[in-house]
Amino acid sequence: MNMPKGTNIQDHQANYWQHIRIFGAPAECWTWVGGTRANRDGQRYGQVSWKEQGGRSKNEATHRIAVRLRDGVFPSCGFWVDHLCRNTLCVNPLHLEVTTPKINSARGLGPTAANAAKTHCDNGHEFTKDNIYRHGGVGGGRRCKACHSRLLRKYRDLKLKTHKQIRVKREDGGLDRRVWVPRVP
Ligand SMILES: [Zn+2]
Ligand SMILES: [Zn+2]
Repeated sequence: MNMPKGTNIQDHQANYWQHIRIFGAPAECWTWVGGTRANRDGQRYGQVSWKEQGGRSKNEATHRIAVRLRDGVFPSCGFWVDHLCRNTLCVNPLHLEVTTPKINSARGLGPTAANAAKTHCDNGHEFTKDNIYRHGGVGGGRRCKACHSRLLRKYRDLKLKTHKQIRVKREDGGLDRRVWVPRVP
């Protein structure tokens, strides 16, 4: 599909938000619906392309952008981003883990004993029955709902900087649809 051409990081983020739907049940994938690119194994990853001033083409994988928005930095050299949900088009930050290639290939055997024994998430929220859900991926690892709600708010605020939600009437008289559109400056 045609990707809008931007000239700076703001444009490329606006483009990014346009192609994900970020409000769903906690365990849901935020599946990218924009442009994609296949890796050597034929797995498809989301990709954002833009032109820098001077016309140089740049592109970045969408799950890496998701990590940058979450952590403030791109994954360091030598690390890559693992999809815990095994959906390579997913950009839900809670389904993404920065890892080393070795750990990545070992996963798929299920959660490690160390992970299963944890009583709190990395941010200190207790893993009570009401505060966990399982992501749909291999091993069904536990996820913290409190962290997810916080991230949803953060991402909603980020998205609202460049997009707004409008109601669209349906021809068949059904419930109005809500659609995200870019804010025009
Ligand atoms: Zn996912
Ligand atoms: Zn938490």
